[in-house]
Amino acid sequence: MMPITDNHMHIDLKGLGIMAAEQFQRAGGTHIFLVSKTTQSFGIEVASPDDFKSAFEHTIKIADMINEQTEVTAFPVLGIHPAELTRLTKRFDLNRAKKLICRGLDIAIDFVKEGHAIAIKTGRPHYEVSDAEWCASNEIMFYGMKLASEAGCAVQLHTENVTPESLAEISKMASRAGLAQDKIVKHYSSPMIPEYQSVGIFPSILASEDALDVALSQGDRFMMETDYIDDPDRPGVVLGPKTVPRRTKQFIKKGIDEDVFWAIHKDHPEKVYGVKIDI
Ligand SMILES: [Zn+2]
Repeated sequence: MMPITDNHMHIDLKGLGIMAAEQFQRAGGTHIFLVSKTTQSFGIEVASPDDFKSAFEHTIKIADMINEQTEVTAFPVLGIHPAELTRLTKRFDLNRAKKLICRGLDIAIDFVKEGHAIAIKTGRPHYEVSDAEWCASNEIMFYGMKLASEAGCAVQLHTENVTPESLAEISKMASRAGLAQDKIVKHYSSPMIPEYQSVGIFPSILASEDALDVALSQGDRFMMETDYIDDPDRPGVVLGPKTVPRRTKQFIKKGIDEDVFWAIHKDHPEKVYGVKIDI
């Protein structure tokens, strides 16, 4: 038996809920980084920072349920999706919206400091926005990096599709925030392992066969994720909860050394997040 970790998954009690974690477990999965869903998905209309708190508490509760009811270990990652800024600017001016999100990140980091979560998530839009919104998103991302640096925790980043140039820019931003580059995990990375390695940021690769084929041909300095969203209204829109364990086994069968997957599923997450991946 070996550890098998999904670095970015969502679970929704309106979707498969705990059954998704059970499916992951039956396929051979052992650890999940459970990322908070948007306030919108809980039907929360944000008016104060405490509204983010409800979404975070919900995520922590689901992680507790997984830890109690299944053999899978779930680590909560709390954050605010860049699209929340876009949505807030429909009701608030940009500055107010930005402040609300920064206060929300303050709450997320408090949960980390209290030991209820292990990392935060922040980032900037993957879609076209105004210059002012792009600027505000970068300020939020920088603020999140600073919080993580102070708390000594990792950050998952949601960003646009990066290039070597934008990776270098993000890496510089981390330096300014005092955050070590290897405490940054780029969620939904494309397989460009040497480019990530050269700036120190950690890629989390979508567990599709094609992406893994390329990534594995470049080395093993990456993690794997499904970004499973467990949305009952959009079944099949992303990879299912069994994908990371299934792909891992498929590639071992194809001749990839098991040590490669021990690095991917245990060594890297342990080092980046400071958690224990035990089986
Ligand atoms: Zn996600």
